Amino acid sequence: MPPRNHGDADRLRALVDAAERIVFFTGAGISTESGIPDFRSPGTGLWTKMKPIQFQDFVASDAVRQESWRRRFTGERVLEGAQPNAGHHAIARLVATGKVLAVITQNIDNLHQDAGVPAARVIELHGNAHHARCLRCGLRHELADLEREFRETGRVGPCNACGGIVKTATISFGQAMPEDEMARAQDAIEACDLCVVAGSSLQVYPAAGFPEYAKRRGALLAIVNREETPLDPRADLVVRGELGPTLAFVAGINPGPAGPRLSD
Ligand code: NAD
Repeated sequence: MPPRNHGDADRLRALVDAAERIVFFTGAGISTESGIPDFRSPGTGLWTKMKPIQFQDFVASDAVRQESWRRRFTGERVLEGAQPNAGHHAIARLVATGKVLAVITQNIDNLHQDAGVPAARVIELHGNAHHARCLRCGLRHELADLEREFRETGRVGPCNACGGIVKTATISFGQAMPEDEMARAQDAIEACDLCVVAGSSLQVYPAAGFPEYAKRRGALLAIVNREETPLDPRADLVVRGELGPTLAFVAGINPGPAGPRLSD
């Protein structure tokens, strides 16, 4: 079924077909159709409901850390059980063609990998919420173990190897960006001939600088988003529509009632 913004989606399909080295740059908007709210959508965005915890506060205060674990293990558990939607499947399909250098994502939900994009092609600028690490020794901690501890003792204690602070493997506001991922994203952006932004308000820096950089380096820039972004005036194509149907159309996938299906 073609999306409502058919003409623009047609143009996006033409850009994707003509490109040889594509980079997708995705944000929270690609996962809203999987039931995970974004940050800034009016009414449903997470920030309309609770203030994000700053890294400095998490490190400085045990009470703040426990509040962060409480948010994670009680109340609405939006990340658990979320499944990739038509947009994730469409990107996975395009990655399988071999023309996609990388999927640079601000998301922490693992849904690109769950849709079948090889982990080596996904660059997670803001980390991954499906496990935790010690901030001092880097030891990986499984969330299931931390949740058991939280339920038994009402708190998550320090790292059992070194006594350091344990935190989900995400990059919080105020926390340094991951160097490897930033370098890999820069390489991909410098090599691409088309950058497709999918579901980002392009307001969170430094991540949002990558599509801008792609344009400056001479790549074509396409933005698919429900709302305006600050980069729209500089984009070669702006598609104002829902990501699932738009990207499914671009990738030749038919989202039917039983979920996305690959077309021949
Ligand atoms: P954002 O919330 O600032 O912007 C999301 C954009 O997507 C909005 O402009 C909205 O209009 C658009 N959008 C939402 N659903 C859409 C749909 N179905 N089709 C088309 N457009 C849609 O998100 P951001 O730019 O990624 O920045 C927010 C930060 O929040 C990121 O750093 C990210 O780490 C974090 N975050 C991640 C998740 C996740 O992992 N799924 C969820 C919430 C927030």
